[in-house]
Amino acid sequence: MPLIVTGSIGIDTIHAPTGTAERVLGGSAAYFAAAASFHAPVRLVAAAGGDWPDAHRQVLEGLSNVALDGLEIRSASQTFAWGGRYFDNMNQRETLFTELGVLDEEGPAIPATFRDSEFVFLANTHPVEQTRLLGEFPNRRLAVADTMDLWINIAHTELLGLLEQVDGVVLNDEEAEQLTEESNAVTAGRRILEMGPTFAIIKKGEHGCILVHRDGLATLPAFPAESHQVVDPTGAGDSFAGGMMGHLAATGVSDFESIQSALAWGTITASFAIESFSLDRLTRLTRQEIDERMTSFRVAARVG
Ligand code: AMP
Repeated sequence: MPLIVTGSIGIDTIHAPTGTAERVLGGSAAYFAAAASFHAPVRLVAAAGGDWPDAHRQVLEGLSNVALDGLEIRSASQTFAWGGRYFDNMNQRETLFTELGVLDEEGPAIPATFRDSEFVFLANTHPVEQTRLLGEFPNRRLAVADTMDLWINIAHTELLGLLEQVDGVVLNDEEAEQLTEESNAVTAGRRILEMGPTFAIIKKGEHGCILVHRDGLATLPAFPAESHQVVDPTGAGDSFAGGMMGHLAATGVSDFESIQSALAWGTITASFAIESFSLDRLTRLTRQEIDERMTSFRVAARVG
C-alpha cells in the first residue's frame, strides 16, 4: 500500500556526550523516509531552502526505496535548522535553537502521482500544515501524526484540530504529559483518545513504548542497547515511526494486533538510527541486519 510522509528536512547541530555534529542532515521526514524504506516504498513530501547542502540531497537520492518527486528546493528560502543537546544519560535533551525557515512558509505541493497514498504519516511540522496535507489524500486508510514540544506550545489549538482528524498519534512521554497534563503514560494515552484518535503510541526512550488503542493496551520494551551503541538519539522517534508505518503499509492491515506487531519493527529500526550521528547508520543498514536483530529481540523480550 502506498506510504507517504510529510514533515521537515533539517540541518541539525547536535551536542552529545559522544561528540558534536555540525549542520548534518536531519529532519523528521528525512529520518522517517530512510527508516520506512527498509519495509515499504516511501513517498517523501518536504521542502528545503537554497542553503541546503548538495551532500544532504545526495544522501536522500541514495535511498533506494524513496520517491523524491515531492521534494521542493526553494532557492530564496532557508532550510529548517535545529540544534539539540543531550544530557549525560542520553535520555533527556534540550533544544538549543529552532530556525523555522521553510517551515514558516506555505507547505510543499503534493505531486499528482502521490494523491492515491493510503498510509499517511504526518511527521513533525506545523499542525496547520499537517492538517492541510491530510486533506490532500482522499484514499487514506490510516493517517498518523507526530508532534513535539514546540508545536504543543505555540500551536495548541491547531494541534487539537489535527488530532480530531487523524487515526493515530505517536509522541514521547514528555510530550504526552505536556499535551494532557497527565504524567502516567497510559492515562495520558487515554486522554489523547478523548481528543479524537483511535490510538496513541507513547514512547519512553530506553524504557520502550505503550500503545493505547480503543481495542486494547500493549507494551513493548526497547531493544537493550549497550552504551557504546548509543551515539546520537536524534531521529529515534521518527525512525521508530518509519519502521512501524513501513511495516503496516507493507502488510496493508492496521488493526490493534497489526499495530502491536509493528511496534517491534519500529523499535528495531530506531535502535540502528541511534548508532550514529545523522542518517549515517540508516544509510549503511541492510534489511538482513534488521531481521537478525528482530530475531534476537524476540528472544530477549519473550514473556511467559
Ligand atoms: P526526534 O529525535 O525523532 O524527535 O526528531 C529529531 C528531528 O526532528 C531532527 O532531525 C530535527 O531536525 C527535527 N525537528 C526538531 N524540531 C522540530 C520541529 N519543531 N518541527 C519539525 N521537525 C523538527
